[in-house]
Amino acid sequence: MTHKVLILPGDGIGPEITAQASRILAACQARGLDVEVEEGLLGGAAYDAHGEPLPSETLEKAKAARGILLGAVGGPKWDKIEDLAKRPEKGLLGVRKQLGLFGNLRPAITYPQLAAASSLKPELVAGLDIMIVRELTGGIYFGQPRGIEERDGERVGFNTYIYSESEIERIGRVAFEMAQKRDKKLCSVDKANVLEVTILWREVMERLAPEYPDVELSHMYVDNAAMQLVRAPKQFDVVVTGNMFGDILSDAAAMLTGSIGMLPSASLNESGQGMYEPCHGSAPDIAGQGIANPLATILSVAMMLRYSLDVPEMASRIEAAVGKVLDDGLRTADIASDGTRTVSTSEMGDSVLSAF
Ligand code: ATP
Ligand code: MG
Repeated sequence: MTHKVLILPGDGIGPEITAQASRILAACQARGLDVEVEEGLLGGAAYDAHGEPLPSETLEKAKAARGILLGAVGGPKWDKIEDLAKRPEKGLLGVRKQLGLFGNLRPAITYPQLAAASSLKPELVAGLDIMIVRELTGGIYFGQPRGIEERDGERVGFNTYIYSESEIERIGRVAFEMAQKRDKKLCSVDKANVLEVTILWREVMERLAPEYPDVELSHMYVDNAAMQLVRAPKQFDVVVTGNMFGDILSDAAAMLTGSIGMLPSASLNESGQGMYEPCHGSAPDIAGQGIANPLATILSVAMMLRYSLDVPEMASRIEAAVGKVLDDGLRTADIASDGTRTVSTSEMGDSVLSAF
């Protein structure tokens, strides 16, 4: 069956980097990948054209697509929109919510060619390959009640940190299955010494464990996990955690790799439909200059091939082509160092294509 792939270039550097990723996708089609590719508007670009960040046409296309490739959304141009519901970021949240993309996969990989750029000593991160599995549609970011209100003569702000057993179980299964495909080590991160919601989290993870006897499950409090991530990151294989802890830990892990312009991500639902995007933002400071690093977006295509389109061999070939280009010393400005050759966004795309 022919799957649909939707490309949402978005804002800032989004159109530049997705243009390069589209070329790789086209090369995959030329090698037999059976997909139908179309484009849509999301974020600021959609607001400018239709007055809303997630037009119904885009939502329909997204629902029909097996895989969605997003560049990035947002930028200073739209920060003045008064109605918060019309801000570009809301378009992205809308797609996640409407498609139920609860499983966020964020790999943190240190390419040996780039280990010197890490915030840590190269030997601590050389060969680092962690997968952070973050719950994306629940937890404190979505819990009700929430608000700012007057109580006893002053204002209080409050949010609700809530997870149901079924929400914990489905993200747990994603993580256990991921660990089975990798080094069979799963670390569940919580704050079960303080927060009841994470006592339940820990209980559900423990309950699932016997179904995955080949996976070694451990638990860590989030404060310790943050410390361990910086002290000895290679102890981790797969990490599973809730929305907020995952937000923080995955950004920290990304910095360890020294190459935010290199990291892809995936957000999946139960049927394997997914949205794929670079971990970085729309980088308005360099938009339109042709210098953005397209590799995180190209590697997001690889994740789409692996997790939604079920052609892992082709995904590996893309990853190998990226490795080859780095071996050859080609770098966009963000990852350049002594002895490397600085190339533009499109030259980087050219090189990956010829290595593919
Ligand atoms: P967001 O809020 O969407 O995460 P942000 O402002 O926090 O956005 P980015 O947009 O990722 O973060 O930009 C952070 C810095 O990294 C900027 O200086 C930007 O130019 C740089 N950067 C981000 N992505 C890339 C890329 N693909 N290539 C080169 N530089 C990048
Ligand atoms: Mg940011």
